[in-house]
Amino acid sequence: MSELMTRSGQKAFGALAIAAVAGLVSACGSGGDSTASAAPPSAAPTSAAASSASSAAPTPQGAPLAGKTIVIDPGHNGGNASHPEIINKKVNVINAMKPCNTTGTATNDDYSEHAFTWDVSLRLAKILRAKGAKVVLTRKNDKGVGPCVDERAKIANRAHADASLAIHGDGAPASGHGFHIIEPAVLKGHNEKVVPQSKRLGMDLRNAFHQGTGIPYSTYLGKNGIDVRSDLGGLNVATVPAVFIEVGNMRNAGDAAKMKSAAGRQKMAEALAQGFVKFLS
Ligand SMILES: [Zn+2]
Repeated sequence: MSELMTRSGQKAFGALAIAAVAGLVSACGSGGDSTASAAPPSAAPTSAAASSASSAAPTPQGAPLAGKTIVIDPGHNGGNASHPEIINKKVNVINAMKPCNTTGTATNDDYSEHAFTWDVSLRLAKILRAKGAKVVLTRKNDKGVGPCVDERAKIANRAHADASLAIHGDGAPASGHGFHIIEPAVLKGHNEKVVPQSKRLGMDLRNAFHQGTGIPYSTYLGKNGIDVRSDLGGLNVATVPAVFIEVGNMRNAGDAAKMKSAAGRQKMAEALAQGFVKFLS
């Protein structure tokens, strides 16, 4: 979930977290850099068979993402709710100081956003690696705290990522449903050069996700599945092509059912992988 939605997601974390999250603003981030993608017109994207990632000289057909670095940023973390002293610390997100991180939201029956984003991220990383990409995750497990939103973006910057995606689930009013991509706004003197690439990444991921999952564009935010924001540290700090996806509204029964389904999450990961292939080839 992103900042505007924080309040609606908090009650799921119970009394322990209430004091911690009062006043919390969410922010999530990541980044990805791009050297121009000069790849041959991609051959048929391979099925995610397990065997392709080993060779130093992969064939283009077998490894359409060979030589590409992709950063996947699973939103939030399992230990955030119990460590307000860490996640409430302010960090510099270029145009503001914002809390390090937030707890994220959950479905009404308590399937947490951090667990969801972690699961989809692992599935996506596996598929991308099978296609030859080097994949960096911004956190190592689902039990830790943070990292802060600025650090998530810096991980992508330092990796010189060709593309970066932060994965989230939203906590909007229950009537809204569908997914949306969040693209970075231009911050003068900081990210002008990379924003056009982020926009292209966002379009490719939007199209692939829509086509691959059948999930409709958000009914409550953005336009045609795309929103642009200047208040997310994970986007602001990025100097590589970076977008967020809010995969669905965890407070909406229909979206929640899809997000709780392992088969649904696999389909989401496969669709996102196709978006990366499109963007990077
Ligand atoms: Zn989130």
